[in-house]
Amino acid sequence: MAFNRISDLGDLTNKTAVIRVDLNVPMVDGAVRDDTRLQAVKPTVDAVIAAGGKAVLLAHFGRPKGQIVADLSLEPVVPALAQVLGQDVGFITSQAFNEYEASGAWPFPFKSVMIMENTRFFAGEETNDAALAARFAKLGDVYINDAFSCAHRAHASTEAIAKLLPSAAGETMSAELIALDNALGAPKKPVVAVVGGAKVSSKLAVLENLVAKVDHLIIGGGMANTFLFAMGHNIGASLCEKDLKDTALKITAAADASGCQIHLPSDVVVAREFKAHAANETKAATDVADGEMILDAGPATVETLAGVLAECKTLVWNGPMGAFEMEPFDMATVALAKAAAALTDDGKLLSVAGGGDTVAALAHAGAKDSFTHISTAGGAFLEWMEGRELPGVKALDNQG
Ligand code: AMP
Repeated sequence: MAFNRISDLGDLTNKTAVIRVDLNVPMVDGAVRDDTRLQAVKPTVDAVIAAGGKAVLLAHFGRPKGQIVADLSLEPVVPALAQVLGQDVGFITSQAFNEYEASGAWPFPFKSVMIMENTRFFAGEETNDAALAARFAKLGDVYINDAFSCAHRAHASTEAIAKLLPSAAGETMSAELIALDNALGAPKKPVVAVVGGAKVSSKLAVLENLVAKVDHLIIGGGMANTFLFAMGHNIGASLCEKDLKDTALKITAAADASGCQIHLPSDVVVAREFKAHAANETKAATDVADGEMILDAGPATVETLAGVLAECKTLVWNGPMGAFEMEPFDMATVALAKAAAALTDDGKLLSVAGGGDTVAALAHAGAKDSFTHISTAGGAFLEWMEGRELPGVKALDNQG
């Protein structure tokens, strides 16, 4: 994988870097509730400042759809970012930006670090408008993309702008790209993928891509029900996409053809109510009765799957093994996450996981910090698992 790094941008002394970051932080009453995404910005901003440059941060916040929506201003993020960076941060309002363009001079002192107002306040952002990208490009001399989570979208601040300035991946983006390449690009084999979650339909392209790439594919969660149904088993009242029966069979056949072993639950935990602590029973996956819902994989499955992980050198994980938000239906997810964490801690497994629910599930299992790499990107992580080229990454390609 070839992409430019910050060091490829040459001397940054007295230069300004326009840096695309992810500032979609959770806000409560105008204050940042979790600064994880702000922490992720720090390495790149520090690197630019250390190289003698200045930083103007571009980011979107929510979905204002090209309109100025006061509640979606990035201004409340300024004090929280200043605290994380340990230095003053300035803010460029949309009005100041427009005035600057009209006057040709900044109407305010240009601090070392500035946040530009929500890129989605501008109509051309989501249409990848070249004219808007040129306006953003005028803010600096070089462009750095440090927002992997937004790289699946070809927007003015993620794609078009990279064509206008010397461009590179930031520190956080680089770390992410390298980790992902180690997991699916050029992984140590055998490779195992865990794909769980609610529906096959939302991860069809992921499954199709993975069967051609990995040695073991563990299918869990509601998705497994569709496969069990396709194999002719009664899945009772379980979440299931019966119309995808043929699709599930095709994926199974493709896996057979490419030497990928699919693992489905051999035992399951069933309940008749979809709620925490519902009366439940563990039974063979072939014995589910009418009215029962499969809400988790059972202990025999977990034992088998832990054995599969132990045989592998690389793990990619997206999606929980069951309805993990409701105890005790978190058992398989927690147990498998712990097994992966222990193998990673022992240096036997390179483990990469991503997606909002998955990160929450691994955190719930106390396994998150042991994983080699956790991606907080949702859509971008899934598109990467689908094997798709992400436009925001492709734009940083150094043709090397
Ligand atoms: P996803 O966003 O596709 O990764 O799906 C995550 C959601 O799938 C979580 O909210 C889980 O509770 C849900 N889920 C996982 N397994 C099951 C299941 N067997 N039945 C119903 N929901 C499930």
